[in-house]
Amino acid sequence: MKAVVVHAPDRVEVVERPAPVPGPGDLLVAMRAVGLCGSDTTAWYVATKAPAVLGHETAGVVVEAGPGVTAFRPGDRVFVHHHAPCGSCRACARGDSVMCPAWKPNRLDPGGLAELVRVDAAAVAADTLKLPDGLGFDDGALVEPLACAVKAVARARVLPGDSVLVVGTGSNGVLLGLLARRAGAARLLGSDPDPARRRLALGFGFDEVFDPAEPGLPARVRGATGGGGADAVLVVPTAEQAVQAAVASAAPGGRVVFYSPVSPDAVWRLAPSEPYFRDLTLAFSYSSGPAETRAALALLEEGVVSARRLVTHRLPIERAAEAFRLARAGGEVLKVLVEIGP
Ligand SMILES: [Zn+2]
Ligand SMILES: [Zn+2]
Repeated sequence: MKAVVVHAPDRVEVVERPAPVPGPGDLLVAMRAVGLCGSDTTAWYVATKAPAVLGHETAGVVVEAGPGVTAFRPGDRVFVHHHAPCGSCRACARGDSVMCPAWKPNRLDPGGLAELVRVDAAAVAADTLKLPDGLGFDDGALVEPLACAVKAVARARVLPGDSVLVVGTGSNGVLLGLLARRAGAARLLGSDPDPARRRLALGFGFDEVFDPAEPGLPARVRGATGGGGADAVLVVPTAEQAVQAAVASAAPGGRVVFYSPVSPDAVWRLAPSEPYFRDLTLAFSYSSGPAETRAALALLEEGVVSARRLVTHRLPIERAAEAFRLARAGGEVLKVLVEIGP
């Protein structure tokens, strides 16, 4: 079978390797659509795993069910999560699926960007979801990134009437914005240095999208929110300047949620006096688990988010290297999908 081995975001090769064999409780899934995530094209992040078969925004068809599997059968169209919690430890009881000790060791074999993928029994039990008839594989590939956005927007406690600022309006920023609006954001603001992305965000319903390269983002956010600032700020980029501007844009009592994986070398300087006396809540939101993937699937079924609008580029697995190039390009490129099979 074909699999995509990533050495670095700009060194991607399609290789032949033996298909995995499902064990008891496992599924063998023929991948049909795999989305590329920002992390897949972030050099430091890829370096922690490379060489590896990446790809964790997945949808496909069950081709074989291992011994003992009763919930799925060949022909089922599914989303499969690349990690799965045990469901019974203390972290799981708190709902912190991503902090379950079993979560990371349970992973797709060999990874999503392959023609055939073995889904571990734990992931079959905890976080494999049948796709409803109305949803395509391209929608199924949005379950995982949308689930991460569901978690982040919940963590930002967006309430009806809130002003919300999304920093970075690529595909993740668009998802965060759509969910913030659905949670009741009365004013939806964005910020992105890329003019194409600013324009695209307006098409997704953002009220105003600023260029952070122009000075005074916090003042412009206050100007657009009646002087108060943003009640919730969702931050996709990890550059220090973007983080500082995001925190300074928050309203008194506001919540600031940092969305993306941060390099171990990153240091953010923050003068804490202002955030303290404005009683801000600063939080991270890392990945997502079974509760959020189910919520994401329901949102896709409702049509709150659709691949038709978010996916801008689709390439066959043979052209995976080009797909990675596109995903790094920015501009008009939002979600890039690798399509596999017939
Ligand atoms: Zn991701
Ligand atoms: Zn657990």
